[in-house]
Amino acid sequence: MSIPPHAYFQGKIVPYAEAKISVLTHGFNYGTAVFGGLRAYWNAEKEELYLFRPIDHYRRFLNSAKLLRMELNHTPESLTQVTVDLIRQDNYRQDIYIRPIAYKADEVIGVRLHDLRDELAIVALPFERYLKNDTNAHVTFSAWRRIDDNAIPARGKISGAYINSAFIKTDAVLAGYDEALVLTQEGHVSEGSAMNVFMVKDGTLITPPITENILEGITRRAVIELAQGELGVITQERPIDRTEVYLCDELFLTGSAAQIVAVTRIDHRPVGSGVMGPITAALREAFEKAIRGCLPKYRHWNTPVYLSERIAQRN
Ligand code: PMP
Repeated sequence: MSIPPHAYFQGKIVPYAEAKISVLTHGFNYGTAVFGGLRAYWNAEKEELYLFRPIDHYRRFLNSAKLLRMELNHTPESLTQVTVDLIRQDNYRQDIYIRPIAYKADEVIGVRLHDLRDELAIVALPFERYLKNDTNAHVTFSAWRRIDDNAIPARGKISGAYINSAFIKTDAVLAGYDEALVLTQEGHVSEGSAMNVFMVKDGTLITPPITENILEGITRRAVIELAQGELGVITQERPIDRTEVYLCDELFLTGSAAQIVAVTRIDHRPVGSGVMGPITAALREAFEKAIRGCLPKYRHWNTPVYLSERIAQRN
């Protein structure tokens, strides 16, 4: 992964090397930070870079910050503008990933959420595929359980909570799988290490509801809308048992980094016929068009980074 030239740090765009925190920083010691992860996609024909649903991403980011009692003095719109300014600074003309992070910034000992200063940083960097086998992933059920809303709320993208994801991911990868699904304490399917999960059964899409300790994914929401709008396929949000997944027709994972990953084996059993199914394939195709601004119906999902600059140059 290449190092970005600039970052947004302490209220301004600075050379990346200057965006540094101290070892005593509260967020670094106690995980008292929240982050986001969004992408911008290059459309070569239109010579435009489209941020994918930045307002939705920043709304969730600010909600995560609210859970940690942070005051960032920003709106989803102002954070989107900062992001546009940062990307323009480095003039990216390729697919990129954007990582906003807000953290308790004081250099003090003492775990808490109150009486601490909040800081915000944003970096943007080139980014390609997240999962290697995104058309034929082999997934396992993790031996770990998903963090519960009453322990660490999964609906917040809280840095400390990602230790749970790290346990899930590393055990899966070291055991030879591409990724893992994790169950709730009650034993229902929750999600992947950094992805939501959908299965297809008898032509219906089924995904765990937001009360199953999932992160409420923006890609998840986009897939639900694309399935209905483009394929006429309805999504049921309901609890899913482990063995329903073993017997489903199609299975896929969704996330900003992962996009839509087809799962073709689960715990050494073929998913459906053992190859990517038709609904997964059609959704991947529709998603690829939507993110690059090629589906007019979903253009409100795409925020052009360079458009207003081009208009200003023309006038
Ligand atoms: N679940 C978890 C735990 C995640 O970290 C992510 C990635 N942000 C997702 C689901 C997918 O969310 P999104 O589609 O908004 O990226």
